[in-house]
Amino acid sequence: MALIQLGTSACALYNPTSSSKSVVKECNIPSDQSGTITAKWPVIPIPIALHQGDFDDSEASSISAAASTWNTFFTASSSVTTLDPGSSGSIRTSSNSNPRQAGSICAQGIMQGNTKFTGNVVIYKLSKWSANYPQNAMALTTTCFLQATPYPKFYMAVMEINYQNFFVSGTKVPDLQSIVLHELGHLHGLNHSCEATTKSGTPNCNDPNLNPDYIVASMFPTFSFDPSGIGEQKRDLQSNDQGRANCLYSGSGSTN
Ligand SMILES: [Zn+2]
Repeated sequence: MALIQLGTSACALYNPTSSSKSVVKECNIPSDQSGTITAKWPVIPIPIALHQGDFDDSEASSISAAASTWNTFFTASSSVTTLDPGSSGSIRTSSNSNPRQAGSICAQGIMQGNTKFTGNVVIYKLSKWSANYPQNAMALTTTCFLQATPYPKFYMAVMEINYQNFFVSGTKVPDLQSIVLHELGHLHGLNHSCEATTKSGTPNCNDPNLNPDYIVASMFPTFSFDPSGIGEQKRDLQSNDQGRANCLYSGSGSTN
């Protein structure tokens, strides 16, 4: 059993322009990204929920739009949807308390065997960000998984969004839809397109010859802000995100 934390951090590195290319339908993990898959869910779609009362209508619609972007992509690439937000148009809510606050997330799995979900991946707004979390992370997706071949299998996940150090008055304001799109990438099992540190099977973001596809990707680890503190928009999945994601979920509803 392993516990990992994945997050985005805030610094002004790059300001990509969005591009609209055709949808990637093939599985493509470039050799220098061989270590950038964390795990996969054994079955899709993954049920997601907003923690009850946390998000206003505008925030909920941003989160819903990010989820739709993933589903629209997978529908086009593989005729599947990977996220189940509940009723169309709005994401279901959950009254479950945050399992991370109790420190027992991996004891609260939401899978029954490898075939059935028994709960939702809940998205929480934290007005008090844990001192144990990276303070420059705008959000964290925490997952639990079991070793399996070819990829470990998720059985639990939680998404938390940092409304202490970001989003609120007097702080930088990220583009929520872009941040959630990125976090949903982690939820699917994608790690960052590159890392600022040396890591096996992962490109170094500081490599001057870094593939530009990795920089424009949603899964690039950092987001920039303009001088007034407004975060950049990266609301689309790019070819590198799409190619890697296709290796995890394609072809049928079951991905055992
Ligand atoms: Zn991240």
